[in-house]
Amino acid sequence: MKSKMPSTKGLLERLDNGEKVVVAEGYLFNFEKRCYLQAGHFVPTVVLDHPELVTQLHKEFVRAGSDVVQAFTYYAHREKLQLIDKTADLETINRNALRIARDVARETGTLFAGNICNTNIYNLSEADNKDKVKQIFKEQIEWAVDEGVDFIIAETFVKFEEAAIALESIKEYGKGVPAVVTMAATGLATVEGHPTTVDKVEVAEAMKRLEAAGADVVGLNCFNGPETALGVMSHIKKSGVKAPLACLPVPYRTTTKEPTFLQLTDPITGEKVFSANLDCVMCSRDDIFKFGRRCDEIGIDYLGLCCGNSPHYTRTLCESIGRRPPASEYSPDMDLHGFFGTDERVTKNVTKDVQDALK
Ligand SMILES: [Zn+2]
Repeated sequence: MKSKMPSTKGLLERLDNGEKVVVAEGYLFNFEKRCYLQAGHFVPTVVLDHPELVTQLHKEFVRAGSDVVQAFTYYAHREKLQLIDKTADLETINRNALRIARDVARETGTLFAGNICNTNIYNLSEADNKDKVKQIFKEQIEWAVDEGVDFIIAETFVKFEEAAIALESIKEYGKGVPAVVTMAATGLATVEGHPTTVDKVEVAEAMKRLEAAGADVVGLNCFNGPETALGVMSHIKKSGVKAPLACLPVPYRTTTKEPTFLQLTDPITGEKVFSANLDCVMCSRDDIFKFGRRCDEIGIDYLGLCCGNSPHYTRTLCESIGRRPPASEYSPDMDLHGFFGTDERVTKNVTKDVQDALK
């Protein structure tokens, strides 16, 4: 079996060459499910409490085919840490997360990404608010650059203005590292049927403005499931954005009526499922395979999955674009299954009455 050889090609070089870049995200929800992180504040305290587990998950995602190791600094910002009285740990949590990711990236020849995200406090009507938001981005960007990131991902913004400030901060403090900027589309507020950001900028227009302001990759992450996100991405593609496009939906079955995983309801009880009961609306692996094929058709070259992702989904996504990462060694092969296998070693031994009972 081929293993991935270390490569030094940068993000933009890969995209310019027409290569696809697969990006595994979803660390918060993955650790929450494994009971090492609390739903609610969603601060990645696992970086401080169990760094070895963060290393392990990075390695599992790389083994499943991720081209990028994203430092787990999502929500490790000043605004979030004050919620749990941990602002004293701000620099430590950021630098630890960055070093953990860097070590795995350098060992595996993958790209090392820094990460800034929605602060949730940006408010255009408050005069000094922009400075406060920018300060949050500035310190995280400076630590990321200091630890040697290959590029920075700024993500999950529901307001165009906050995404623009994040990009402006990367340009100002990022010492020239490429910027990937992705927004989270809420889906319900629309202009001519297309979603707008919360501050009422039509999504394709938001992408064009980010591109014009120097973003190297633009697109959507989080909130929407694959089907919903692809509808918006097709529109963005047709609108004439030239920059490479990114799409990293959540692996949940969102719908036209419930376009984000924050709105999804349980198909049986009708109750809202975010966040503890999302399991009942998860995508199948086939859904993820189809998503990867559709990305290929639309021309999305930077693709991945956000909250809800696990290594098996990333592996499926890679297989959908014709790759066979090391984890594919254990991809399902039902030929030898005890009841459904068609291999003659199974069929000649397993009793037919059991097979008939399960048809
Ligand atoms: Zn997410």
